[in-house]
Amino acid sequence: MIFRSTRGIAPEKNFSGAVIQGIASDKGLYVPAEFPKLEKSWETYAAMEYKELAAEVLRPYLDEFTDEELKACIDGAYTGKFEAEDVVPLASAGGAHFLELYHGPTAAFKDMALALMPYMMRAALVKEKEDKTVCILVSTSGDTGIAALKGFEDVPGTCIIVFFPDGAVSPVQEIQMRTATGSNTYVTSIFGNFDDAQTTQKALLNDPALAEEVGALGYRFSAANSMNAGRLLPQVAYYVWAYAQMVKQGAVKAGDPINVCVPSGNFGNILSAWYAKQMGVPMNKLICGSNKNNVLTDFFHTGVYDARRDFYVTNSPSMDILISSNLERLLYHLSGNDPAVVRSLMEQLASEKRYEATDAIKAGLSQFAAGYANEDEILAAIGEVYEKDHYLMDTHTAVGYKVWKDYAAIAGDDTPAVIASTASPYKFAAAVGSAIGLKPTGDEFEAIAALEQASGVKVPYGLAELKGRKLLHEGAIRREDMRDFVRETIKSRV
Ligand SMILES: *Cc1c(COP(=O)(O)O)cnc(C)c1O
Repeated sequence: MIFRSTRGIAPEKNFSGAVIQGIASDKGLYVPAEFPKLEKSWETYAAMEYKELAAEVLRPYLDEFTDEELKACIDGAYTGKFEAEDVVPLASAGGAHFLELYHGPTAAFKDMALALMPYMMRAALVKEKEDKTVCILVSTSGDTGIAALKGFEDVPGTCIIVFFPDGAVSPVQEIQMRTATGSNTYVTSIFGNFDDAQTTQKALLNDPALAEEVGALGYRFSAANSMNAGRLLPQVAYYVWAYAQMVKQGAVKAGDPINVCVPSGNFGNILSAWYAKQMGVPMNKLICGSNKNNVLTDFFHTGVYDARRDFYVTNSPSMDILISSNLERLLYHLSGNDPAVVRSLMEQLASEKRYEATDAIKAGLSQFAAGYANEDEILAAIGEVYEKDHYLMDTHTAVGYKVWKDYAAIAGDDTPAVIASTASPYKFAAAVGSAIGLKPTGDEFEAIAALEQASGVKVPYGLAELKGRKLLHEGAIRREDMRDFVRETIKSRV
């Protein structure tokens, strides 16, 4: 399988090369040159275990891996690390189906890909005979950071540096990152928002002088954000799984369509759903949910992407984003794989913070619906579903629920719906607790305990073990100092 840059100038790679590279040298993102079709029957897929199905989905993309190598990666990722027996349970509540992607080590959906990516990275480094240590740079709105730190902790041949926006992640997310263990993990907050962190991170990944300097020390850079193709493909597997489980549970007849609603920020998760659709999962609408940072809602409604607006810190912080990286991949596919169009739109975004999609792209946008929820609507949605079905959603998943419900009512669309449930409610315990009427507590761990007592839902092991952990990474730096932070970190290792 060939992977190409969305901007058409960087060299083509196989999967291994694309994973190591992270972001293409022309600033584009690697995409598969084609979408292999799912060839077996839904009855066959429905009878498979998660790991087996994931191998089916990934195999054609990772065709330089042997079956044994792929199986070893998948076993390493999902055996013993996910609390749900079937890895990704599909629950029903509020008239929808919730794809619970958060039963991994750090209690958010990022674990689905980031538990697997380190295994794929290691195998790729061997295949590509890479002799440098890979330094993985991460910018995070909260959940990617800790999932990547956990995934790459003490993985030979790698180190990882995480930047998160100071004061703009949830208390649990901050504790998770600042207490991260491992001899190869580095974390600091930056004064700025997520977009600042991601823009600077991308600039560092494309900084030739910096690459040369760290290259002389035996290092090269990669990325663990969803700009890395190694993040996207493992996510495709769970949308195939979702449909198979819908068939298995009798919620849909094999071959009939479902709608999929994804609370979105950097647009990686929903793009994976779109990839699954290209592979043959019967999907009608893909519904893109946003919070008050609703740049994507406006884009899907008008075809104009306009990031010139206020940035809000909300109670769904992992979606507080105005520059959604992965939209670039959708633009590429919908333009008929035209890198010149992508280059032009991305140049406009960089210089004017705005662009208008071409007519071809606009036509493709009709596969999507979009909407947003403000903070009060999020809390109301959590309260509503909890009261009705005793089912607890986190603040991000609640965006998905609210936006799906609005869409279904307005469009009169009663297609069975799967909502991506992206985080454990305990990751945002104070907000979720307030939504179901619990008294505010001063301390996040008290909020977690109160929520557990009220709901009877077990606290995920990755959060239960946090209490009393030592802060290991206390730094906060200016955005302008990220480059020096990276240089000094690498120097300190050699
Ligand atoms: C990252 C994240 C999102 C947004 O996912 P994207 O792939 O960036 O669109 C939504 N919810 C939670 C809990 C997240 O961690």
